[in-house]
Amino acid sequence: MAASMEENRKYLTKLDSEIGDGDHGNNMRRGFAAALERLEGTSPSSPADVLKAVSMALIGKVGGAAGPLYGTAFLRAATVLSGDEVSPEDAASALEAALGGVKQRGKAEVGDKTIVDALTPAVEAAKEVAGSPEATVAAVFRAAAEAAAVGAESTVPLTARKGRASYLGERAQGHRDPGATSTQLLLDAAARSLEG
Ligand code: ADP
Ligand code: MG
Ligand code: MG
Repeated sequence: MAASMEENRKYLTKLDSEIGDGDHGNNMRRGFAAALERLEGTSPSSPADVLKAVSMALIGKVGGAAGPLYGTAFLRAATVLSGDEVSPEDAASALEAALGGVKQRGKAEVGDKTIVDALTPAVEAAKEVAGSPEATVAAVFRAAAEAAAVGAESTVPLTARKGRASYLGERAQGHRDPGATSTQLLLDAAARSLEG
């Protein structure tokens, strides 16, 4: 995820300069670099501890809307995991919990041109795959990433109802939401690393 945020920093910043304040790429790069640094300096004892460490780094290092939202997402995901193993069902539940946290914190619904537009279909796809007998955690994240990509693309024609882009009214139409796009990229990075 940190590598993807580094790689896509300019792209996310370009999207945010069209309908926001042009800092999303830098925010995400800084947050995930801090998460990586935090993980390298400690030895987390469980998957939940890894997610908690990432959450703390994001909340601590990312100003703006995305830091607290993604920080809450990772923290909520941590709360549903226990023990050392993550099953496909656990992975889908963690994504669902992450979405619940983002919605509770940001009060956005599908169609508001936010992270929720990518994460909601991602959770639906993840749950569907997790329920199949041959499911793997990699397959859960691959399905989530693909659905998030469609969700992020669906934000293009929308007017924003949350975040800075909402100040633009109809002028936000025709632009892809930066946060929905970073969600797609994060899930794709997770899927690629699991497929590795
Ligand atoms: P800021 O807008 O404070 O500069 P960022 O640029 O890092 O923060 O993040 C902007 C992204 O945050 C938006 O593209 C949108 O996807 C997401 N966002 C903003 N407000 C909300 C919200 N209430 N719920 C979900 N996502 C939101
Ligand atoms: Mg911004
Ligand atoms: Mg900002």
